[in-house]
Amino acid sequence: MPAYAVIGGQWGDEGKGKVIDYLCENVTMVARYSGGNNAGHTVLNASGEFKFHLMPSGVIWPQVTPVIGNGVVVDPDVLIQEINDLRARGIDVSKLQVSDRAHVIMPYHVRMDQLEEIGRGQDALGTTGRGVGPAYVDRVARSGIRFGDMLDAEGLRDRLALAASRANNTITKVHEAEPFSIDELFEQCLRWRDELLPFIAPVEERVREALSRGENVLLEGAQGTLLDLDHGTYPYVTSSHSSVGGACAGLGIGPRSVAGVFGVFKAYTSRVGAGPMPTELNDDMGELIRERGGEYGTTTGRPRRCGWFDGVASRYGVIVNDLTAGILTRLDVLDGFDPVRVCVGYELDGKPLEGFPAQTRALEQCKPVYRNFAGWHKPTAGLTNWDDLPAEAQTYVRGIEEIIGCSIDLVSTGPHRHETICRKPLIP
Ligand code: GDP
Repeated sequence: MPAYAVIGGQWGDEGKGKVIDYLCENVTMVARYSGGNNAGHTVLNASGEFKFHLMPSGVIWPQVTPVIGNGVVVDPDVLIQEINDLRARGIDVSKLQVSDRAHVIMPYHVRMDQLEEIGRGQDALGTTGRGVGPAYVDRVARSGIRFGDMLDAEGLRDRLALAASRANNTITKVHEAEPFSIDELFEQCLRWRDELLPFIAPVEERVREALSRGENVLLEGAQGTLLDLDHGTYPYVTSSHSSVGGACAGLGIGPRSVAGVFGVFKAYTSRVGAGPMPTELNDDMGELIRERGGEYGTTTGRPRRCGWFDGVASRYGVIVNDLTAGILTRLDVLDGFDPVRVCVGYELDGKPLEGFPAQTRALEQCKPVYRNFAGWHKPTAGLTNWDDLPAEAQTYVRGIEEIIGCSIDLVSTGPHRHETICRKPLIP
């Protein structure tokens, strides 16, 4: 059963959008399984540059059916905007399907996200304030509104009365802010339903059908493994399972359907928002990586924290996802750096740490142990053949393979689809 998952191996922004767009040639479906419009995937190809927040990255390919699975929380306004923007650029979005089991981000979720983040003060998590976390909280509390609910107006009114009263209670009593009008929310839902009706579908069945026909389906990860709700650097994580386990639960497929799990890693490390990042460089070198890499968030424009490649965190990403292949992106950003450093271990209180610790404080206080690699002085930007890479760049890639314990089958040397070195085809 040919499903292939594309997972962020670090803290997100690894270049999954580019990789998915590159891999789509022999694929008929691309399925998002987690997160919401807190994701931002950039795709650059002959049709232009696209920044997707909810739309699966394969939408540009005419043979691809883009689907949004039950594991995703969807702000209908953002989705409608993306659909309209793509239509205006001549992209056919008629095949898009949104799961009737996917949860709706309601306006009160956005408000609660912002109020909660303000309430955390100094301890703010650095959420994107798009309502993603509160929508997942309501899902778990069984007070969520799902897209399927919008198909039954009477039932929707009842569910909304319960769900919105609960949200209003928190908004007025905890945050002392203005409540939402349930009637207005209901009217809003009906407007969304009218616009999105052609797209709402039993997506999980469609994914299973495509798999049983033997078609290649890409499972599109959002964020990265180190932001996974359980396996990431809790509590500085996202509210869903960005690692491979989330792909099955978020699309209603079994693990035996997954033939390959590809982890995407940047050739260095970046992180947005708060939380531990052992290899962060708060110096000129960090600034240089940020400037050279243009490391500013796709969704928020926030400057990303930058540092050397963290081999310990990335090896953990390999293990958690049981990766079958690694993909290294943005090698070109390191052109001209000498030496290039990779963290190969952590030390706490002068003693080596075993593996990747669960405790935030250990990660905050540990010191990275680095291995230096010789830099390369000829550019790698845009190269498409392994043999053309400078010997030092080849050694760097091989060193990363050894440190993380996973082969790097694809190396990305630029943002364009074609700026890619394929060492081994990932999808037969
Ligand atoms: P995603 O969320 O994992 O899809 O990553 P983002 O879209 O946030 O960030 C990746 C950025 O890097 C985008 O602007 C891509 O166009 C760009 N990108 C992807 N691969 C490469 C690469 O190999 N080299 C360079 N220079 N840019 C890349």
